[in-house]
Amino acid sequence: MPELKPNKPGQDRRICQCGECGAFFSTVSVFDRHRIGPHDGERRCLTVAEMQKRKLVNRAGVWGQPGPAVPHWEQVQEETV
Ligand SMILES: [Zn+2]
Repeated sequence: MPELKPNKPGQDRRICQCGECGAFFSTVSVFDRHRIGPHDGERRCLTVAEMQKRKLVNRAGVWGQPGPAVPHWEQVQEETV
């Protein structure tokens, strides 16, 4: 089970790090989205390509949801995992 770590000193935003792949996430919900598979079975982390496919964006090493700073894509689709 990956462990969520609190933000490091000096960072103004609360981020979490995946204990499995070491990636940083801006919110717990984004973190949740990068873990796939059944909870009682084989869970794994999404690859970078898979996260990009799900419209997650990496800003300064932290994965998050596309925000105002990101151009609007006309073909953005809600994807259920
Ligand atoms: Zn991970």
